[in-house]
Amino acid sequence: MKRLRPLIAAAALCLAGSAQALTIFACEPEWAALARTLAPHAQVRSATHARQDPHHIEARPSLIAALRRADLAICTGAALESGWLPMLQQRAGNAKVQDGELGMLYAADEVSLIDPQPHATPGPFAGDVHPEGNPHLQLDPHRLRSVAQAIAARLGHIDPGHRDDIQRRWQAFDADWQQRIRAWEERARPLRGLRVATQHSTFDYLWRWLGVDNVADLEPQPGMPPTPGHLQGLLNRTRAQPPRAVVAATYQDPQSAQWLASQLGSATRLLHLPATVADDANASALATWFDSLLNALLAVAPAAPSAQAQTPPTQP
Ligand SMILES: [Zn+2]
Repeated sequence: MKRLRPLIAAAALCLAGSAQALTIFACEPEWAALARTLAPHAQVRSATHARQDPHHIEARPSLIAALRRADLAICTGAALESGWLPMLQQRAGNAKVQDGELGMLYAADEVSLIDPQPHATPGPFAGDVHPEGNPHLQLDPHRLRSVAQAIAARLGHIDPGHRDDIQRRWQAFDADWQQRIRAWEERARPLRGLRVATQHSTFDYLWRWLGVDNVADLEPQPGMPPTPGHLQGLLNRTRAQPPRAVVAATYQDPQSAQWLASQLGSATRLLHLPATVADDANASALATWFDSLLNALLAVAPAAPSAQAQTPPTQP
């Protein structure tokens, strides 16, 4: 934050002098949802939605135009958007949202990241390879809370006229969120030790938080799409003790996960889990999203209480 201090006064004056509403550009829907929660007076736009792969986005003219108008951009960082955000920043030509400026906030700068891969070199799958650590941090509600706090602080600097309101909203969010975390952790006890196989490191923060055991990655190398040979190897390795679920994110091509789940038989279920909120404009989007993740996982857990398994999925 130190490097930003000289910029704060200028940015604040700039916004105070303009009649237009605070405009926020979020790279992913979870940050848009947080921005809306903390600053409902702002115009917020998410560059992506839940069915899009945030590693690979086209730098469309509409996104460039949106970033050009932004007072604040909130992105994940840690190279998640390295395939498209730098181009957007360059083409938008908006000085406020360049790296190091007050108007550019990277969530990954606000928390510690798991699994850094210092020797990984981004290649043709740049964006999927994560040398600085796993960028999919939104799937840990504790880290998400830290990012919310950082967004509230930054918003207060950029928009001092609303600082008190933003602080009140942060405190209300925090009280509610911490209560929810406690309830989720209580509910999720049956998930400890649940064995799953997953495509990519998308849900690794969720697994760590819940104590879920991710026994296999459908990607032969980080960022590389599943190959038939790798999938066959996984099948051979896990057949004797199949995972309870094969998990893919809703933005991923389901074919590989489908194949592996079907080959493993009826003890293994296919789960399509959302890696972000469904609708960032919905005030309860973040809580609903974590509820839905827990519901889906509890439905496949061996000790799932009957109340959690109201809609048992039919076997294919
Ligand atoms: Zn990734």
